[in-house]
Amino acid sequence: MKSRSEEGLLQRVAALLAEPRHADNPLREALEALYLQHRDQREQLERLVNISDRYQALAREAQQVTQKRYERSLRRQQKLSRISDGYQALICERNQTLHEEAHHDALTALPNRRLIDEHLARLDRDKRGYTLALLDIDHFKQINDAHGHDVGDALLVAITQTMRESLRDYDLCGRWGGEEFLLMLGDTPLEEASRVVERMRARLARVQVFMAGQPLSVTLSAGLSERREGESHLDTLKRADQALLRAKRDGRDRSRLASH
Ligand code: GH3
Ligand code: MG
Ligand code: MG
Repeated sequence: MKSRSEEGLLQRVAALLAEPRHADNPLREALEALYLQHRDQREQLERLVNISDRYQALAREAQQVTQKRYERSLRRQQKLSRISDGYQALICERNQTLHEEAHHDALTALPNRRLIDEHLARLDRDKRGYTLALLDIDHFKQINDAHGHDVGDALLVAITQTMRESLRDYDLCGRWGGEEFLLMLGDTPLEEASRVVERMRARLARVQVFMAGQPLSVTLSAGLSERREGESHLDTLKRADQALLRAKRDGRDRSRLASH
């Protein structure tokens, strides 16, 4: 604050004023007045500087408090947003599970009627060609009657597993009803679909479930129909059902094709 030269100068002036031999000097009174005035001003300046220092310290303190409060609130917000993200992920996951459960069969995990209907409606909308194949396990009631419902269930699960493995990526196979399945083969003409179904039936005939050491297997009948130009999937399905009925009447364990 006070520079060393100023301090020296003041000391010199004070010493001069104190000297008795300058008591009558004509400049003494003016110098003393100047000296006193300068001292007052310096004191005032020091007070102002003190006030300013205190004010700055207070301002710094206030800023630190604000900064801390801001950081705390930021941390709280980040924590809340992490919790909220977690909840959202959970809800999203739950929704996916619900959607999955609502569209898939509980026993076989195959698409259920709801998902099949959505897929068929999409096929209609896309106006693309496709072939439908209705598959029905032969004499399945006898399996249940002879070995119990649980064995029937196990056979259904084993069959659907093989079905899934026999399909191409763009085919969809759903559980149409109890022991009936619907294959939806997009962009596939009847003859090509028939080859897919025959391959699948041959694999399914080899699926076995062991009951008291004895192998159990089943055969399947199938009815196929290719979408006719401008036809809705309900009509295509009806013709597939009629073809399936013919396969059953003709002795089961075979496919029948609806006329195109
Ligand atoms: P068909 O060759 O004429 O099709 O004879 P089927 O015995 O297979 O046909 P039917 O319609 O007379 O009987 C179907 C049987 O499928 C009866 C039913 O108990 C059984 N079934 C349907 N869904 C399930 C299921 O989820 N689990 C078990 N274990 N059996 C089922
Ligand atoms: Mg049936
Ligand atoms: Mg059956």
